[in-house]
Amino acid sequence: MHPKKATHQQTKRRNRDLVLKMIFERDPISRAEVARVTKLTRATVSDIVAGLIEEGLVKEAGYGESLGGKAPILLSLVADSRYVIGLNLAQDKFIGSVANLRGEIKETIELPVDDTVGEQALGLVYRILDELTSRGWRPLFGIGVGTPGLVNTREGIVVNAVNLCWQDLPLAELLRARYRLPVTVLNDSQAMAIGEFVYAGSHPSDGNLVVVNVKHGIGAGILINGRLFQGDGGGAGEIGHVVVHENGAPCRCGKRGCLETIASATAVVQRAVALAPEYAGSALGHDPRSISLESLESAWRADDPLARQVVSEAAQCLGASIANLVSVLSIHRIVLTGDMARFGDPWLQSVRESMVRASLARMAQDTQLEIGTLGFKACVLGASAFMLLENYDLLFTQAAE
Ligand SMILES: [Zn+2]
Repeated sequence: MHPKKATHQQTKRRNRDLVLKMIFERDPISRAEVARVTKLTRATVSDIVAGLIEEGLVKEAGYGESLGGKAPILLSLVADSRYVIGLNLAQDKFIGSVANLRGEIKETIELPVDDTVGEQALGLVYRILDELTSRGWRPLFGIGVGTPGLVNTREGIVVNAVNLCWQDLPLAELLRARYRLPVTVLNDSQAMAIGEFVYAGSHPSDGNLVVVNVKHGIGAGILINGRLFQGDGGGAGEIGHVVVHENGAPCRCGKRGCLETIASATAVVQRAVALAPEYAGSALGHDPRSISLESLESAWRADDPLARQVVSEAAQCLGASIANLVSVLSIHRIVLTGDMARFGDPWLQSVRESMVRASLARMAQDTQLEIGTLGFKACVLGASAFMLLENYDLLFTQAAE
């Protein structure tokens, strides 16, 4: 191919992606406004929009406010023009959902994991995807996976997921070969961060956000200028295995005293079981082996002393770790999500107090800490949104000119 022509085609594609991104983010928006924000000419924008309408991705939807002359026609994304599958492999059950371009979930399938690992866990992934890809949601433009562990996103490899016994698993390649669809693979906390960023709240599209996911493990996802920040090794935000208590409890990673051994959902249950004999007054003390996250939550809400101790200690430890994130990143918005969020505002308050105590006063004062609103959906939606945000090209069914 002639090099000059290739450049011209690349520019055309880049402009088209830019216009589509603008309509996605600022829906509904007029052609003139798209031209103003993207700095493309009105003629170029009109041309591109004609192509997007032909592709079925964009439609004209009513009129905007007139600024003197004729009222401008508004453009809107056709939410159901494409579908994407999002997977969350980080729960005690695998969850797969089909969503449209607006992140509206159309169908969800869940399968219990029950300590399934290795090839068998991969088999569960296939079962969910076999099912979801056969349900007639078309056109299906890709699969986005959120998985626990360290992930090489560029190559789609799960480097190490301890709970699933996956090491150097080429997940994207396997799924691509089986389903003939584009696949992206992300760490689940990073996926949740994207989900919360794109589909919850009113984050400016070029804003910053940290999402701390506190479930059986602990991880964070970091967005800088609206883009996921993975760091040089892909593990940016892996705060769960930072040692906070020398010679503390053993951790599943092989070390002792990691943040996870105190602040995670698994840790609070284990600590409550261990400490129960010392708490004669606690309702949980009667049958320590039956303590679960649910019973701990009820006890916490009833101000049970044992529940208060383990959950408060977990919150304090988490708050101190978040103070590190605050001082390294100076990002003002931090969202907490995952199983521990069930302990609600008093838990959040305790995390905040500890973060403030461990931070430079002025930096903590400017930091907003809140609980996420999407729950498990954050991961499936984030995994699918990542595919969309990184690959607008994949939305096009006709070959680029
Ligand atoms: Zn660890």
